[in-house]
Amino acid sequence: MPIRPKERFLVFGSPLIEEAEIAEVVDSLKSGWLGTGPKVARFEKAFAEYKKTCCALALNSCTAALHLCLVALDLQPEDEVITTPLTFCATANAIIHAGGTPVLADVDSATMNIDPDKVRAAITPRTRAILPVHFAGRPCDMDALCGLTEEFGLTLIEDCAHAIETEYHGRPTGTFGQFGCFSFYVTKNVVTGEGGMVLAQDEAAAARIKTLGLHGMSADAWKRFSDEGYKHYLVTEAGFKYNMMDIQAAIGLHQLARVEENWARRGAIWKAYDAGLADLPLTLPAPAEADSRHGHHLYTVLVDPERTGGLTRDAFLSAMTKHNIGVGVHYLSLPEHPYYQKRYGWKAEDWPQAMRIGRQTVSLPISPKLTNADVTDVLDAVRDVLGR
Ligand SMILES: *Cc1c(COP(=O)(O)O)cnc(C)c1O
Repeated sequence: MPIRPKERFLVFGSPLIEEAEIAEVVDSLKSGWLGTGPKVARFEKAFAEYKKTCCALALNSCTAALHLCLVALDLQPEDEVITTPLTFCATANAIIHAGGTPVLADVDSATMNIDPDKVRAAITPRTRAILPVHFAGRPCDMDALCGLTEEFGLTLIEDCAHAIETEYHGRPTGTFGQFGCFSFYVTKNVVTGEGGMVLAQDEAAAARIKTLGLHGMSADAWKRFSDEGYKHYLVTEAGFKYNMMDIQAAIGLHQLARVEENWARRGAIWKAYDAGLADLPLTLPAPAEADSRHGHHLYTVLVDPERTGGLTRDAFLSAMTKHNIGVGVHYLSLPEHPYYQKRYGWKAEDWPQAMRIGRQTVSLPISPKLTNADVTDVLDAVRDVLGR
């Protein structure tokens, strides 16, 4: 099998940036308005409209978004927030930095999303919130999770870093919880370089997040220096510096305009992978549930040495890289990391589904930038690595 030429290493998660974004960034630079300004306001409005909801607030990352939404809960040190072990470390770290204690509930083996029965089992008198992640863009079981938050009087915060386009029973993700948090990191479905967004259920909740995200000041900096005359700001709480810049929003505005186009392209790549890998000894993503919309953010395959004749996940990763195909791991389960082991005594074995998935999973490239030839190269490389 020919190896993909060295000069064409396929970078995992490379964003598709077009002329419109480039021109808009240049326009921001020429205008002199680099910081939080009119383009951020336009991006927030466009994002809220896309998600069919009232209130969106742009920030400089999803990590910042998660942090502020959890800070808004005024957690006490013993307060617990239940989340998934199969996520990026930022999800758990945000809980810790907001002063709470993360508690893990294992994922469903097929959907890889947090298992509502495991969430129920993890609820204690100290539980304050549930923080699910719509893994790979597949919506969590929101009927069950919203049932639990109602039954136990808990707050729901959705980590929608993979789930911009995702809907569950016709309702956009990020609108079920008190807050929904989105990422515009370079590998995500809409990119601004670094960037994030909070969806809130009303203007008051959004205003609290906005204040927390800009030093705890009562008025926006960009209004302070506008031609309406100088306005004093007043600090009402000790906030953070998490605001989005107009340069970031300039990219995001045009990325968002193409979000459906890019989603359709990733859907086509997804189908090509499903068809091209069907006969191989890999576990492919479970089919999307009826009456839901999958965000198609990550295409993950499981490499189980018992099925691949001894080939391990890590050997598969190295072999793909040798074929010049960039691959990813989403994710080693949180309890595999030394910090959490030391601080909370977590052992990976206690969340066996997340542990197994984390040790077997490989994400294949699914950027809308991929050409059909790239997709063929990925499929050829996988077949070659598996000796087919
Ligand atoms: C990327 C990601 C984040 C963090 O997003 P940033 O914008 O990089 O801070 C949080 N949660 C999940 C599940 C992610 O994939």
